[in-house]
Parts: sequence; C-alpha cells; structure tokens
Amino acid sequence: MVMAPSAIAIDHQETTILNDNKVDYLDTNNNHGVESDVTGFASKALIRKVLQEHIDRVNVDTCEPGEEDAFYVADLGEVYRQHLRWKLNLGRVKPFYAVKCNPDREVLRLLAKLGTGFDCASRAEIDMVLSLGVAPNRIIYAQPCKTKSYLRHARKVGVTQMTFDNTDELRKIKECYPDAELVLRILTDDSTSLCRLSAKYGASLLDAKELLALAKELGLNIVGVSFHVGSGASDPNSFGQAVKDARYVFDEAAELGYDLKMLDVGGGFVDETFEMFAGNLNEAIEEHFPPHVRVIGEPGRYYTSNAFTLAANVIARREVISEEEGEKAYMLYLNDGVYGNFSNIIFDHQHPVPQILSAPENKERLVEYSIWGPTCDGIDIIADRYFLPGVINIGDWLFFENMGAYTKCSATKFNGYNDDHEVIYISSEPGASALLGY
Ligand SMILES: *Cc1c(COP(=O)(O)O)cnc(C)c1O
Repeated sequence: MVMAPSAIAIDHQETTILNDNKVDYLDTNNNHGVESDVTGFASKALIRKVLQEHIDRVNVDTCEPGEEDAFYVADLGEVYRQHLRWKLNLGRVKPFYAVKCNPDREVLRLLAKLGTGFDCASRAEIDMVLSLGVAPNRIIYAQPCKTKSYLRHARKVGVTQMTFDNTDELRKIKECYPDAELVLRILTDDSTSLCRLSAKYGASLLDAKELLALAKELGLNIVGVSFHVGSGASDPNSFGQAVKDARYVFDEAAELGYDLKMLDVGGGFVDETFEMFAGNLNEAIEEHFPPHVRVIGEPGRYYTSNAFTLAANVIARREVISEEEGEKAYMLYLNDGVYGNFSNIIFDHQHPVPQILSAPENKERLVEYSIWGPTCDGIDIIADRYFLPGVINIGDWLFFENMGAYTKCSATKFNGYNDDHEVIYISSEPGASALLGY
C-alpha cells in the first residue's frame, strides 16, 4: 500500500525526528572529508534504522495476514542528490523524468518542485503528472506509437510535444492532432546496452528522410529529434554517435525548410557510469549543436534506482546439501519475488543483492543460499547462489538496495500475492525535506 496523504503526514513527524538523528550522526562523523560521502553514509544508516523500526513492529508469530509483507523505504534525499549531480554534469540538458520507471507520487511531487519536465507514455501517466499542477509544456509524450484516443486526450489537455518514428503515426497525428510539436525518434546502435530498444522503436537515417518529406507534405510541425541509446550502455561513445546522427537529421530537415530547435537525448543513464557518459555527451552536444538548440533528456532509473530499499520476510526454508561444497546449504523462500517487486530481474536484467536485516549474523561462517519468491512458479527465483554470514531462519528479514527502478510499477498479483507494497518515505537531505514539507 502506498501511504495515503494522511499517513504521510504522520510520517513527517517521524521523518523530522529521524533527520535530527541523522544530524547527530553527521556531527560525530564529520572527519570523513568529502561531504557527499558523509551524506551517503549517513543516509544508509538512516534507512537501516527505519527498516529496523518497521520490522520491530511486526511479530510473524501473531500478526494478521499480510502484516509481514515486503515493504520499501524510499529516501527522497537520494533523488534530490541525483538531481544536483545531473545539474553539475549535464547543465545544458533539461531532464524530463521518464515516469514509467517509477511513478511513485512522492518522487513525482519532488521532481515537479525541482522543476524537471516529464516523459509520459500513456494517458494515465500524463494525467498523473498534470494532477500535480505541472504545466502541459513540461511534458513530452515520448511514445512513438500512440493510442488514438490518448492522442485526442493529449490535445484536450494541451500536451503538445510528442515523438514519432513511422509514416502511419504521422498520418494518425495529422488526423487527431495536426498542430502537435513533433520530435522524430531515430535509431541508435544499442548493441552494447543491457536493455535494448532499437528493435522496437526508432527510424533509420534512411527512413528519417522519407518521414521528413511526408511531414512536410502533410503540413506537420517537426520541432526536433530524439533517440534512446538503451539502458546501461557499456560503450561511452554511444551518445556521441547518436548526437552525430541527430545532427545529420537536423541538416536534412533544414534542406526541406524545417528549422529544428530541440534535441532529446533520451534516457539510459546509470549511476556507475554517469560522469563518464555525461562528459562524452556534453562534448558531442557542444561540437554539433549551437547554443540556441534546446536540449532535453529522459532519465528514468538514474533518478530513482538508489532511492528505494526493499525488505522482504523469509516465509519458508529448506535444508539442502551444496553440490559444490558438500556442506549444508539452504533454500530461502521470501514473500516477494519476480512476479512482485523483483520484476526487475525479468524485465530489466537486474541482479538484486541480498543483505541480512534481521538474523543473528555470524561473520565467521559464510553459508550458501538460493533465494526464491513465494509463487508456485519455478522461474520465481531471486538469487541462485549467494553466500551470507550466518544461518537465516524463518521469520528473519532480508533487504535489497537499489530497488527503485522498474520494480513496484511492474509487479503483478499473480498467485494472489500483493502488488502494492507499503512505502515509508524519508529524506536524508534538508533541501528535499523543505520542498516536500517533511
Ligand atoms: C524507458 C524510457 C526512458 C527511461 O529509460 P531509463 O533507462 O530508465 O533511463 C526514457 N525514454 C524513453 C522513450 C523510454 O522508453
């Protein structure tokens, strides 16, 4: 369950108290040097404390069904820090947060206050963002293959910017929304990316020429070019090549009499490689696009991955003998799995890392585990071989960091399990707390 606004209000008091504790923590550890390190460190301690307080309230031997459900702690201070980091490294690129990655209302509310734009791909996402008081010109309808009725809805609510990548879509837009501001999505080489998108979306440079000509013939308004290099690209030059290709399309459009003014560099930014990719992207933008061209991006996971920590309960255990070690090992069954919040394992190629939240840790002894979800399906596995310190029992809790992207939003109710888990919101940054009223 996402907390109702009234529940959040109660939490605010708690958050304030926790923030005070965090300040104490910071004061006693201020000799760490780099401020951001200290903040990140303190933030982790704060998250641990809130996780612990929640599980202390749950007694698995007496609780009502579902009280021991998996739950999240979301640190919105982390979203705030990622925004500052974006500003520092990609100052020319205005972020339009990709809502599909995590449509959490508190995340959207903070980003709205921080002044970002939003990448929406459906009617519901558009309405959710508008309901926060965000002006329609801060939204890009970044779905190249749109539902007709949604297109009419976008027109009604004044969302004008949208992407396209094929001739049928152009004709559809001509019919439903002829004065829309169109952004041509081109293909990129995403062969080094973890999550590839080019098989589904994007026009080749050859097709782009044909699309521009048809748009001209239909009298449509093309304003820019977009791409998405795929998520978790490993080739730092993937942005460089895509920016070059976009320049080529700008020049072709100019030959047809268009004066394009917007470049959309898409999403796919990940925490570990952000600075390197940002540097590469900046260089390419400076080289190929004069200052009057407006540049936007559509980061999703970059903003939320690290902000959400998930805790799940061990509901069952099976003793086995390890094939490799010949020693005692265990299969652990959690009350959350790939049909729930661990959907990122299936859809997003992630490998969540288990950590012990409550269990008598024995650092001397590493024990082998495989970790499974609660449904009766064999693919519902979270980790097939993992060593953790000490013996974990039924009723103990594990937690997983970096669970903020493509997790909760793609959870299902398969086998009758919950798809809507509680989120406890905290903020480890005074700036974010002030904006959110925590
Ligand atoms: C999913 C998506 C994004 C966000 O991707 P991340 O890897 O989360 O940054 C951005 N733009 C479009 C068009 C998308 O489909």
